[in-house]
Amino acid sequence: MNDSASRAAFERARKVIPGGVNSPVRAFLAVGGTPRFIARAAGPYLYDLDGNELVDLICSWGPMLLGHAHPEVLAAVGAAAAHGTSYGAPTLAEVELAEAIIERTPVEEVRLVSSGTEATMSVLRLARGITGRDMIIKFAGCYHGHVDALLAAAGSGVATLAHRAGAGPALPGSPGVTAATTADTVVLSYNDRVGVREAFTTYGDRIAAVITEAAAGNMGVVPPGVEDGVGFNTFLADLCHANGALFISDEVMTGFRVTRSGQYGIDGVEPDLMTFGKVMGGGFPAAAFGGRADLMQHLAPVGGVYQAGTLSGNPVATSAGLATLRLATDEVYAHVDRVSAALQTEVHAALSAAGVPHVIQAAGNLFSVFFVSGVDSVPDYATASGQSTTAYSAFFHAMLDQGVYLPPSAYEGWFLSSAHDDGAMDRIVTALPAAARAAAAALLAPAEETR
Ligand SMILES: *Cc1c(COP(=O)(O)O)cnc(C)c1O
Repeated sequence: MNDSASRAAFERARKVIPGGVNSPVRAFLAVGGTPRFIARAAGPYLYDLDGNELVDLICSWGPMLLGHAHPEVLAAVGAAAAHGTSYGAPTLAEVELAEAIIERTPVEEVRLVSSGTEATMSVLRLARGITGRDMIIKFAGCYHGHVDALLAAAGSGVATLAHRAGAGPALPGSPGVTAATTADTVVLSYNDRVGVREAFTTYGDRIAAVITEAAAGNMGVVPPGVEDGVGFNTFLADLCHANGALFISDEVMTGFRVTRSGQYGIDGVEPDLMTFGKVMGGGFPAAAFGGRADLMQHLAPVGGVYQAGTLSGNPVATSAGLATLRLATDEVYAHVDRVSAALQTEVHAALSAAGVPHVIQAAGNLFSVFFVSGVDSVPDYATASGQSTTAYSAFFHAMLDQGVYLPPSAYEGWFLSSAHDDGAMDRIVTALPAAARAAAAALLAPAEETR
């Protein structure tokens, strides 16, 4: 497959943009090779600079639930833009988007922001402001955006220093993040209830909040475990409430994607505070955080916790988000669920036939494939880290060569959309056997790096 135009663009990009990209995973460092530069997209397909048509299994890392360039979303965006693109004053569209989020989730009030990172950063400040406490508990492998205090053991791409309560503060996950910033962050192992109980015993009334992905999706997909009929999120919420801490559910990835509401629609836990992003922005920079009214009332201008944004509630982004949520009908979720289940079955069959050890895990329609051996489930980041990235890289490039664009990292979910029709699905299924054989070959010759 010709990728000479992408190669030339990457050369040019690297002279003016660090690593040639504006978000690290796009650079293909984890899988090797040259990233494709995208010229346009439609439905389930991306078209690169060389004119290759690629079935998209990233969907912009989640937002494009309806596929690319959905005509009704484009019409809403066009109509909004024609009325001006930013006012710095309130609009009715913001109220409608807030109402749409509140109608689907347990939150009573929301504040709109421009990125998931901004949402989690703001929600931590709010939680600390409300409780008057400093410490935050997060889980290794959960990614909450590049918030300094949360860049400790933060999923793929960020060094993981698994940390148990009692051993001292978390270590920064990136140069530039000070030890003081992460000193109030305690990083625990996902699904490890003993660790969480220990942390509350050790730090007791210093813990402002526990923040977790509603279902972990940034170390591969690791759903919240169920023990004695109690889900991990319920366990966390109960423990927070028994200790005067707040339970924050980060639904930036899962929200409005895995169900009409998100993981909340699957496990029913009512968090004190929640964060949203991705799908609710309809492909534009829009995100939100929300929660019970008595908590949200602590935000300026009502309360003392300051938070603001020049482009917050931007009318164009808001129109795209609102159109997307309105078009995300039960039929859309039923379709994505169906193609997701079918694809999981096909991937499992192809990898099994080629003798490639693997575990497939899902949270609703969001799923990922772990190239692990010797385990039958992946409950946490330590287990996820045991996978063969060599096998994944070979699999990834074999799929890409056949026109299927997977996430360029083994630690990411596979994203589908309502636009993934039979034609797109057939293309993926046809590509799987050769890719599975490439992964098997890479496992036999691990020294031979793919490109
Ligand atoms: C993507 C993501 C974020 C960060 O959102 P950005 O818009 O990239 O800043 C936060 N939390 C979760 C769970 C995410 O998946």
